[in-house]
Amino acid sequence: MTSPIPAGATLGVMGGGQLGAMFAMAAKRLGYRVEAISDVADCPAAHHADRVHVVSFADASALGQIATGLAAVTFEFENVPVVAARAMAAVVPCRPAPEVLFTTQDRAREKAFLVSHGFACAPHRTVRSRVELQAAVAALGLPAVLKTAAFGYDGKGQRKIESAGDVDAAWDAIGPTECVLEGWIDFDCEISVVAARGQAGEVAVFEPSRNVHSRHILDVSSAPSGLPQPVLDEARSVTARILEALGVVGVACVELFVTRSGAVLVNEIAPRPHNSGHLTIAACETSQFEQQARALCGLPLGSVRQLAPAAMANLLGDGWAAGTPDWPAALAVPGVSLMLYGKSDPRPGRKMGHLTALAPTVEEAIAKVTRARSLACHTAS
Ligand code: AMP
Repeated sequence: MTSPIPAGATLGVMGGGQLGAMFAMAAKRLGYRVEAISDVADCPAAHHADRVHVVSFADASALGQIATGLAAVTFEFENVPVVAARAMAAVVPCRPAPEVLFTTQDRAREKAFLVSHGFACAPHRTVRSRVELQAAVAALGLPAVLKTAAFGYDGKGQRKIESAGDVDAAWDAIGPTECVLEGWIDFDCEISVVAARGQAGEVAVFEPSRNVHSRHILDVSSAPSGLPQPVLDEARSVTARILEALGVVGVACVELFVTRSGAVLVNEIAPRPHNSGHLTIAACETSQFEQQARALCGLPLGSVRQLAPAAMANLLGDGWAAGTPDWPAALAVPGVSLMLYGKSDPRPGRKMGHLTALAPTVEEAIAKVTRARSLACHTAS
């Protein structure tokens, strides 16, 4: 254990998206300076960080130079090249370590990690060719879903295979690259668990969120999930054990399928704060982003106690189709708060911001946040 990084020191975050912006807000409240490292100058983190280094993640020597001005560095998305994280880690502590990125940024490696540590996940096969895909379909049966091993997010790089006639089209759409074929899980619901792990190995697990997706993109998260206690206990335990097995120092999120029999299967691990954890900003004594800053700096982790039932609704670019959304209408709904990410180009499917609502029950929180969204975005689903 090293001593905590003192307030006033400068922290780095690789990536300039909204997760980097919310990390910067939380870290600055704790008294740190924040520098974002991004290949894009006009990024959400630029509105909140003290400085943005615009640099290619392929430029190891520039990254090493930037690291000399930092006390520690973290990342806000898992597609940061491992070599870039290693270049910085050679100079300053990088938390989580680049090895965590290495395991989690590739579905095939992540699945191998889960299997080797005994964590239940969907049946799957790694495939590198059309012939291997055909063999995997024969072994797993249909329906199944073909996913690229690397660089997938929000359903990109995925194709469901319903029947034998879809196999070639799926390979044409997703291959030729390393892929994972997963058996289709007829789940009861999807949940995710955000947790933080500190430098001494202590773990703080947030209340699991229930997640509803639309077109493969997270639409609404809510907590508490209302699931039976044994399911919640298992989800929390799996998450804590995954952070321990990976050696995460920082925040990670485990996305899980809950099957109709109440089993919990790991879908994905994100080695960083997660969209489904945004409700912790308004709803919890410590947000997921403050936990990230605390873990990075060697401070005690905060309380994850949730103060009220909460729901979060994403605001996608689709909601701008009829012009700028009517924010006053959304904010007139009591208990609703708005976070916009400062992105100028509202493309369909692009995450532009989110709304959060607190209420006496989770059902009311969901009703409030979806009502606020439909009042603001006349075309939102
Ligand atoms: P992913 O990018 O792997 O998180 O997948 C995006 C979404 O697709 C998930 O949140 C699920 O709604 C759905 N999905 C992915 N994999 C499976 C699966 N094996 N069985 C059923 N649904 C899946």
